Amino acid sequence: MLADERERMVEWQLRRRGIEDERVLAAMARVPRELFLPPELQEAAYADAALPIGDGQTISQPYMAALICEQLALHGGERVLDVGTGSGYQAAVLAELADEVHTIERIPELAERARASLAAAGYGERVQLHVGDGTLGVPESAPFAAIAVAAAALEAPPALYDQLEPRGRLVVPVGGPDGQWLEVVVRTPEGPAILRTVPCRFVPLVAGR
Ligand code: SAH
Repeated sequence: MLADERERMVEWQLRRRGIEDERVLAAMARVPRELFLPPELQEAAYADAALPIGDGQTISQPYMAALICEQLALHGGERVLDVGTGSGYQAAVLAELADEVHTIERIPELAERARASLAAAGYGERVQLHVGDGTLGVPESAPFAAIAVAAAALEAPPALYDQLEPRGRLVVPVGGPDGQWLEVVVRTPEGPAILRTVPCRFVPLVAGR
C-alpha cells in the first residue's frame, strides 16, 4: 500500500535523518507523492530519490523537499512562494504548512501537468500557479514570508530577496556544476544573513525565457 510506504518514508528518510519539525513531518505524511509522478513511476513514489518528470526536470527527493520546508520555519498563516513548480509536489507540501502558496514554473507543459496534479490531490484552490521566469519572483503578490527555490543559481536572485518580508526566509541551492550548497537567506535590517546548510544537487535555475 502506498500509504504505508509514505509512513515508512517519513520515519526512515525524514525523522531518522534529522527532520524534527512535526508540522513538516505531518505534511509529508499527508501529501500523496504518487499523484505528482507520471503513471509509470507511481510505484517508485516513496523511493529515496529524485525522479524524472519529463522535459529534463525532476521531482525533488522527499528528504530535500522536507528539509527546504523545515528551513523555511513556517508556523501557518504565511504567504509563500515556490520557485520551480516542476511536478507541483513541493507546492502541495507548502500548502499544508502555510496559508497562501504561489508557485512559478518557466516550462508551460510542466506547469499544466502540475496544475492537473495539484487539482487531483486536492490542492487546486490552495495553490496559485504562475508561468514565467521565477528569478524575477511574483512582484504582484509580494511580500512573502518565505520563498523556496528548487533549482540552483550562481547566487541567490536579488529580486527574490527584495520580495521577502522583514525577517522573511529564502531557501535556495547556490552553486554551479562542481557543487551546490543549500543556503538560507534571512532578510534583516542589516541586509541578507546567509547560512550555508548542506551540500545538494539541483537542476539549474534558468533565467529568462
Ligand atoms: N519543486 C519541484 C522540483 C522541480 S525541479 C517538485 O517538487 O517537483 C526545478 C524546476 O525549476 C524545473 O521544473 C524547472 O523547469 C524550473 N525552473 C528552472 N528555472 C526556472 C525559472 N527561472 N523560473 C521558474 N522555474 C524554473
